[in-house]
Amino acid sequence: MQKKNLIKLRLRNNSVVIFDVDETALNNYGLAKQMDFGYVYDLNKKWNEELKAPAIKETQDLYFYLLNKGFKIIFLTGRNSSEYDVTYKNLIQEGYSGFDTLITQSKENQKLKAQEFKSKVRTELTTQGYEIVGTVGDQWTDLNGPYSGIQIKLPNYLYEIK
Ligand SMILES: [Mg+2]
Repeated sequence: MQKKNLIKLRLRNNSVVIFDVDETALNNYGLAKQMDFGYVYDLNKKWNEELKAPAIKETQDLYFYLLNKGFKIIFLTGRNSSEYDVTYKNLIQEGYSGFDTLITQSKENQKLKAQEFKSKVRTELTTQGYEIVGTVGDQWTDLNGPYSGIQIKLPNYLYEIK
């Protein structure tokens, strides 16, 4: 239903769809299993650095559908800016070519909660002239707040970010 609405959108040259990264574009189930479904900082860091996360095929199908229609794509993740390079490389390695930008969480934004951070960035993008027509994410904190357009919520049975 939501995807149908996204597909019906009228394209403008500044129309953009925002995608989250973890458990939206990339699958970290293997990492979760390694961490015994808890959280281990070093294992998480190593997994990210070694570009281990595979693409989620259904997300990639939607991604290329939108890209081929002419929509711009921006990845917006709560991962720290220190992981910008490895995140970028993992996305490219897994076939996510052609996106506009990857935005990570900078030091100055790290005190913000997930939803505050993502809302702040979407507001800035809108001020810059982007028209955000949709947002795709596995957390409600990816989607709620201003300028999210049509919200596509993916399931996440591993964790919840508040
Ligand atoms: Mg996520």
